[in-house]
Amino acid sequence: MEKRSLGTSGIEVSILGLGGFHLLEIKTAQVAQLVDYFIDQGGNYFETAAEYGNGESEKKLGYTLKGKRDKIVLASKVHKRDKEGARHYLERTLKNLDTDYLDIWFLHHVVTPDDLSSLLDRPSALDVALSAKKEGKIRLIGVSTHGRPDFAMELIEKTGEIDVVMTHFNYFDKFNFPKIEDELIPLAREKGMGIVGMKAFADGFLHRHPEDALRYALSLDVDTMVVGANNIELLKKDIGILNNFTPMSKDEMEELFLNAEELGNYVCRQCDKCLPCPEGIEIPEIFKYEGWYDRQMRDYNIHPIEEHIMREHLAFWFNGDYKDAPIEAYKELKVNYLACTHCNICSSRCPYNIDIPEKLKIVHKKLAEGELLI
Ligand code: SF4
Ligand code: SF4
Repeated sequence: MEKRSLGTSGIEVSILGLGGFHLLEIKTAQVAQLVDYFIDQGGNYFETAAEYGNGESEKKLGYTLKGKRDKIVLASKVHKRDKEGARHYLERTLKNLDTDYLDIWFLHHVVTPDDLSSLLDRPSALDVALSAKKEGKIRLIGVSTHGRPDFAMELIEKTGEIDVVMTHFNYFDKFNFPKIEDELIPLAREKGMGIVGMKAFADGFLHRHPEDALRYALSLDVDTMVVGANNIELLKKDIGILNNFTPMSKDEMEELFLNAEELGNYVCRQCDKCLPCPEGIEIPEIFKYEGWYDRQMRDYNIHPIEEHIMREHLAFWFNGDYKDAPIEAYKELKVNYLACTHCNICSSRCPYNIDIPEKLKIVHKKLAEGELLI
């Protein structure tokens, strides 16, 4: 398996990483099977988190990686923001993973202003990370983020102490959280940081097109892309895709954005081609807020029941953390859907056939009036 350099750290990581979250769903013997197969195929990057099953994922990995520590790059994460809590969890993580050092220790899930301020309000978990680095208990400090990357970016800028960033990349969230590809990644590279990707399949939403999903994610500027698997067939499938991997060209990406079934004629691709609106409505900006709110999942079209349940689940998962920000941002706009005259000039310019006034109406219901039936 191809290896890439993790930023300027000098650590080489396999282009695919094995994530620890789904290891909670299987027995230790099956975890061992996955771990052995992954290493056998040339994989060396493993990541988990103290919070996954309250340490269970770490314990399973610790047990199954016994005797293999020198062959692998090992990362875990901590959600605690305070100094005492973070130190406690670091020691527990090392014990669970049966190791005396981590290659990366991530400050986990930095996604809100509170996450940021509690880390910047020193002493905090960041001080534990800095001391642990000096003590040789961790090699690199990471930050992991989901959704809007603003707070992770501020942490990176303000502290100058973060070595690695972990974030999600896929051809759906590209349009919900455009700053990830447009700003976070260039910032990380400018600082020589390592980049760890996750959620290539958008939490399962892109499950019908795994080749496109993984190929797209691997074509971005990423050092390792973490995948989750709860059975060997799934892992074999991902590695099979990787073995046939060729980077996607810009034209191929454009074609994917045009034709992807999951994007259809609802998801705004943030191309700005519908602008200007004669009434001054900032159409793509408004649709971006919808992406923060529910990942543009609730389109009020009729979907098969399984698809509907998945959409609801994924929409809920995201808007739990981000609900207020898009509502506030929408409130701040001087002009919104209420100014729309339904002239349809915008829709006639949209290369993706989005019914823009209708979508604006849906977003207005979500962000200004609550989730009413359309
Ligand atoms: S339909 Fe509405 S949003 Fe579109 S251009 Fe006309 S006024 Fe603007
Ligand atoms: S033209 Fe369509 S896809 Fe492009 S920004 Fe406007 S609504 Fe979004």
